[in-house]
Amino acid sequence: MSDGGLRVDYFDGRGARPRRVHLQAMGDELQLRAEDSPTRVLLTLPLSQLRWPERTRHGARVAHLPDALGGGELHALDAAAWDRFARQAGVRESLVVRSQQSWGQVLVAIALLLVVGLAGWRWGVPLAAQATLTLLPQRVDAEIGALAFDQIDRQWLKPSTLPAAQQAALRAALARALQRAEPAGTLPWRVEFRASRIGPNAFALPGGTIVMTDELVQLVDGDESAIVGVLAHEYGHVKHRHGMRQLVHASVLGAVGSIAFGDYSGVLAGLPALLGTLGYSRDLERQADDEAIAVLRADGRSPAAMALFFERFARWRKDKGHGDESDSALGIAFSSHPADAERIARFRDAAAAR
Ligand SMILES: [Zn+2]
Repeated sequence: MSDGGLRVDYFDGRGARPRRVHLQAMGDELQLRAEDSPTRVLLTLPLSQLRWPERTRHGARVAHLPDALGGGELHALDAAAWDRFARQAGVRESLVVRSQQSWGQVLVAIALLLVVGLAGWRWGVPLAAQATLTLLPQRVDAEIGALAFDQIDRQWLKPSTLPAAQQAALRAALARALQRAEPAGTLPWRVEFRASRIGPNAFALPGGTIVMTDELVQLVDGDESAIVGVLAHEYGHVKHRHGMRQLVHASVLGAVGSIAFGDYSGVLAGLPALLGTLGYSRDLERQADDEAIAVLRADGRSPAAMALFFERFARWRKDKGHGDESDSALGIAFSSHPADAERIARFRDAAAAR
């Protein structure tokens, strides 16, 4: 047994209050032990499964536990102590270090993008953006997504007030539906419920974090099929890497400028904010809607459930005084684009055709 370990706060992802625990490295594993009785092991996980992002602006260090262990977070009490502990335990290098390694690959990809882009701005960029996306490892999605989630969470979101049991049931319902739709296995995903300043909505970040607001759950009166449909739509954005695609499109110019001055960390820092301002095109929304239809069908549910969501969402927006043209402040969230009526008809048709 190694000495001392590290004291951290453990948020189990269910309650709002942390539990003070001791973190102990045992070979390739980390053990969470009760602070009051150090021989009691609360949780054991492989070191490699701990997602320990780079410190936030405030210097806090927050590690994410894998969903398979119920999610949850570890919050360091003392950043310096954690860093020492992490080095000794062999925790993976910090996000920034890894991001810079990723950015080596990103740079190669963007250089390629430039060459192709010069061949024809109009036709070259979409093609080259696709090529760039293909070259970007999925790992980059996860890292950009983690940064973006951190920023958006602080700026827009508050802890969910939905009962933990309801959250767990909805996650389980999505897991079941995705498992039926993609028996060979899905990409990584996790669902975070949050109260929000953006009203009823949902969005997905690169790497698989899907956020759904409490207000959306309330908007559909907790209707499980509608919620699974919306979450499956968001999973569609993750699966087809729509967020990354938009980022690659949008960041070409900025990236070129930054690379010219050798400052690509600036590009990375700007990406989460950029992600918040981007919207998806109609085509990408349709692709995500198709995913929702496919998942609902595979799960034996009617796609009409999504029509319920769009109808109520349209009514909410109207009551709020948002016109048809008004979009959410967060670009990647649900908006009126494409028009609700068109989407409602699409889900109704899909329901009728099943
Ligand atoms: Zn969407």
